[in-house]
Amino acid sequence: MRECHYCLDCQVTYYNEEKCPPLKKMARKKAKYKEAEINIKEVV
Ligand code: SF4
Repeated sequence: MRECHYCLDCQVTYYNEEKCPPLKKMARKKAKYKEAEINIKEVV
């Protein structure tokens, strides 16, 4: 591809936690962390 056509598909993907692979990974980590946090609260 020689030029950007400004379709903004890349921008939409970048800000979509369900489409962008690195964001998906981060979201999974966040969810795991939240689960752990809930377990800690239950123990205390
Ligand atoms: S996906 Fe992004 S880089 Fe590619 S043409 Fe569209 S705006 Fe440009």
